[in-house]
Amino acid sequence: MTDYQNFQSHYERLLQMPVFGINQQEKWAKLSPIFEWLHQHHRAHCAAYANITSSAPAHFSSLENVPFLAVKLFKLMSLSSTPTQNVFRTLHSSGTTGQTPATITLDKETSARQSKTLVKVLQESLGRQRLPMLIIDSPVTVKPGSSFTARAAGIQGLSFFGRDHTYALDEQMQPNWQVIEAFHDKYHDQPVLLFGFTFMVWQYFVKAFQQSSGKPAFERGILLHSGGWKKLESEKVDNDTFKNTVAELFGIHQVINFYGMAEQVGSIFTECEAGHLHCPLFSDIIVRDPYTMKPCGSNQQGLLQCVSVLPTSYPGHSILTEDLGRLLGEDDCRCGRKGRYFAIDGRLPQTEVRGCSDTFMAGDAV
Ligand SMILES: [Zn+2]
Repeated sequence: MTDYQNFQSHYERLLQMPVFGINQQEKWAKLSPIFEWLHQHHRAHCAAYANITSSAPAHFSSLENVPFLAVKLFKLMSLSSTPTQNVFRTLHSSGTTGQTPATITLDKETSARQSKTLVKVLQESLGRQRLPMLIIDSPVTVKPGSSFTARAAGIQGLSFFGRDHTYALDEQMQPNWQVIEAFHDKYHDQPVLLFGFTFMVWQYFVKAFQQSSGKPAFERGILLHSGGWKKLESEKVDNDTFKNTVAELFGIHQVINFYGMAEQVGSIFTECEAGHLHCPLFSDIIVRDPYTMKPCGSNQQGLLQCVSVLPTSYPGHSILTEDLGRLLGEDDCRCGRKGRYFAIDGRLPQTEVRGCSDTFMAGDAV
């Protein structure tokens, strides 16, 4: 692959292919030239990336050879591969208390790729129809402006899948009972889409209705949710509890969790009917031992590295997260989807993060 146009046409071709229909070996044959180009592109346009990856090989014989940056680096420094005049939007991750949010620089092309890919991946779960959409958040979350939180970007990205967008919470994050009731009266007997961040849905929607006498039933509803489980772990709420409670309260049986992060918007991993998270054609995961950084075996817990073909405006095509997970298998999930599938186990406790992990590279470890 030689230039940007060439990269873009490779990406466009991926968009025409089945999202979950290509087996792992064939997928990697398609992705490796793209990652080699991305690596060279970011080396040429981001000095910090070039420094950090100076010892990486130029050719990636396997997925595991793609060098990575620790996710924390995006909080510590500004990593951009695009000239200032081309910056279209700066995205800020919400960040947990006391932490600096990550800053992600987007140009128009990267942003367009993120939206197109998100649509393509989610259509596999939601279909092409735009459904009436209840957003389990407050309208104040989505404020106009060029500086944008990841939560707002998530809502905006997902809005494409719905119509008659209705915000279920008020400015104090309390259920807006009248609005919810009106939405229910209008759409209770047809397919609707409910979307929210996992913790918000649980804390401000599920819990509020557990304590109220009236519960709106959305028997043909799909609840799509994403976000960390960390806050819910302290309340002993896991994925099964979440699903069962939502089914009991609202009659919603189609509950789809997805994994994604502010540093790789558009590159999401959706849950299948078997409850496994799947890698779409545009992304992949590698699970690494947190101490040796070597790739883990199947079902062995480690740190997740996420790779994505989407970002050209910042070097976020390969990121080592602080999330713990396990690779469950490849090409053989009982749902029929090809490629890798995995589970998330939680987050690495802060005390265990290696001091040098920020600059640790795949090339050094494997
Ligand atoms: Zn599956």
